[in-house]
Amino acid sequence: MSTKKVTKIGVLTSGGDAPGMNAAIRAVVRTAIYHGIEVYGIVRGYNGMVEGDIFKMDSKSVANIIQRGGTILKTARSAAFFEPEGRQKAYDNLKKFGINGLVIIGGDGSFKGAQKFSNEFDIPCIGLPGTIDKDIAGSDFTIGFDTAVNTAVEAIDKIRDTADAHDRLFVVEVMGRDAGYIALHSGIATGAENILIPETKTDIEELIASLTEKEKRKKLVNLVVVAEGDELGGANEIGAIMKTRLPNADIRICILGHIQRGGAPSCLDRLIASRMGFHAVECLIEGRNNVMVGIVNNKVHYTPLDNAVKAKQKISQDWFKIVKILAS
Ligand code: ATP
Repeated sequence: MSTKKVTKIGVLTSGGDAPGMNAAIRAVVRTAIYHGIEVYGIVRGYNGMVEGDIFKMDSKSVANIIQRGGTILKTARSAAFFEPEGRQKAYDNLKKFGINGLVIIGGDGSFKGAQKFSNEFDIPCIGLPGTIDKDIAGSDFTIGFDTAVNTAVEAIDKIRDTADAHDRLFVVEVMGRDAGYIALHSGIATGAENILIPETKTDIEELIASLTEKEKRKKLVNLVVVAEGDELGGANEIGAIMKTRLPNADIRICILGHIQRGGAPSCLDRLIASRMGFHAVECLIEGRNNVMVGIVNNKVHYTPLDNAVKAKQKISQDWFKIVKILAS
């Protein structure tokens, strides 16, 4: 806990963009202004800190953004921030503006950077989990996940229509380089036969056996949802194996790609972003540092940034049992 009064705060979005980041920025700006704290927008993540691309925000600067995807502050990955010289420059720029508190909206990489920075310099940092991947411990949801997963569901439903018309097997790739939550949630919600994710070892023989058995009993419409980071590869690689091993099946591949990042945030994402943004400012006022604001069991929950990064959420085996039983 810091006893220094926070008078000017900076807010930035960092790493991959996620729908709902704008709602979080809006909440941070308006809560700070409510408390008489000045707010500064930092452009393109840590790059804006390193380069001094910082501007003062007012209530109007966040008008009409709660419903918009992307981020008005832009986002980026910053190579310079990995280096001590880059972080020193970032600190000097914050000092120039008199900024003495930071809210970072991003994923685990952004939190690692924040943790380093707040340990090196006297600037308290509060993290908000903004990532479509949901791969952060200490929050039931991350900003952007609900929208992304609903976009995936909508797209897979459409694929199912055409798969059904032609009796086809579709291998659909969703985002998730290190985490399979989008695949797992969207796969169960669309009735996928199989879901392949990076957290579990994919048993290709079991997959082929189950699809061969379905082929025998003329269940020809099948959806296989694969996270892009599965250890056997994405839809192209999995599809290629299937085409060789299931020569009679009519197999198609679909990669959903970046549509999963865009679009208007869902109600849930707007809601959690607003709650988290509000509490981030309260955290700084209370003198907290190096924590992430999450929501657990619908209550606000603080997790040290270190734990949020290290402790991954665990996927229960029940989920896979559900997939198997329901897809039979
Ligand atoms: P996403 O989950 O969408 O990928 P992320 O926040 O994990 O988002 P990263 O690219 O991993 O995205 O990290 C964002 C930025 O945070 C990096 O470009 C870098 O500037 C900073 N960062 C990450 N790790 C560190 C680190 N160990 N030290 C200093 N800065 C870091």
